[in-house]
Amino acid sequence: MSDYQHILLAVDFSEQCLFVAEKAKALANKYHAKLSIIHVLDNIPMPDTNYGVVIPLDQDSLDGLLGAEKAKLMTIADHLDVNLENRWMIWGIPKDEIINIADKEQVDLIVVGSHGRHGLALLLGSTANSILHHAKCDVLAVRL
Ligand code: AMP
Repeated sequence: MSDYQHILLAVDFSEQCLFVAEKAKALANKYHAKLSIIHVLDNIPMPDTNYGVVIPLDQDSLDGLLGAEKAKLMTIADHLDVNLENRWMIWGIPKDEIINIADKEQVDLIVVGSHGRHGLALLLGSTANSILHHAKCDVLAVRL
């Protein structure tokens, strides 16, 4: 196994995501690698879009939802000691945005759970599977 320099941890805030997070942290320590963390907002409606189902949300409730997601990310990132500039929260499709950031930030290892919120019925969830097939770098799917 090569020496990793930049590890990207993808968290979906499922029950087991802390287990995945600890694995990523242990690997970052082992390789003295930079650790980044990403959460993709795929369950909060994006404001100002021209497509999709319009869910009536006033700005306060949207801010509340966003704030809650941000707080979850910050708690995990603080716990893992991830630098502020290496924390990502992005709207979109998880597999696409995770791969995008991995490319842009020259990540050499992506760490995901084998399944999460979307894939309990599958051996390998759809996000994990897709990242495994499309990422240009190594991918570790932590068995859950
Ligand atoms: P899934 O394939 O969707 O069941 O999820 C497998 C893994 O992909 C999860 O354990 C996370 O590591 C990652 N993942 C899924 N959804 C997201 C998301 N919205 N943001 C960041 N990572 C995610």
